[in-house]
Amino acid sequence: MAKFESLSFFDHKADLKSVKLYILPMKKRMMPYKKFEEYNIRITDEVKERYKNIIEGLGEDVTRDGLLKTPERAAKAMQFLTQGYHQDPVEILKSAMFKESYDEMVIVKDIELYSLCEHHMLPFFGKVHIAYIPNGNIVGLSKLPRVVDVFARRLQVQERLNEQILDCINNTLKPQGVAVVIEASHMCMMMRGVQKQNSITTTSGFRGQFEKIETRNEFLKLIGK
Ligand SMILES: [Zn+2]
Repeated sequence: MAKFESLSFFDHKADLKSVKLYILPMKKRMMPYKKFEEYNIRITDEVKERYKNIIEGLGEDVTRDGLLKTPERAAKAMQFLTQGYHQDPVEILKSAMFKESYDEMVIVKDIELYSLCEHHMLPFFGKVHIAYIPNGNIVGLSKLPRVVDVFARRLQVQERLNEQILDCINNTLKPQGVAVVIEASHMCMMMRGVQKQNSITTTSGFRGQFEKIETRNEFLKLIGK
């Protein structure tokens, strides 16, 4: 039986007129799944009209060939990039929590991050490193990157993103300690403003055991800092 992964951006089931976009696998037998994205047709139409105005406002001709479908594509892209508003990170963690007596540090490092800065709506991207020390519960490791995605796919500032990931894990898993470090490059700094192409912004947050300097240092050493 084929497995389907559904990316449903809208929880309200009332709006049945939605556009479904299936990305079919190249070879059915080798990749027995379909990636499936769903867009709310009303929101897509509204955002599309606004994008037309924006493009015109910038002095471009929205009726020329290359731009004809751009407002719709941009509307869908922005819905994809902000789908985190409709997802619940607590539920994601709770869906894969297991009783376990392991109580050493668990680290997932180099989690890819793509988000949008809320001041310019330009991307910032980089890596997230997460560690926690269990207190009776462990969580499926793939859930930590998913929690990162839920918060990253919203309009963000790096500082708040760091805090939200930290608090979500701390409040849901209730571990002995949790640490989150984010290293990111901001397009709003690189492409405009101060035009500093090589600067990386680092934020960090520590709770519980990681507030102790030895534990924190062990974590920072393990992630290569
Ligand atoms: Zn910015």
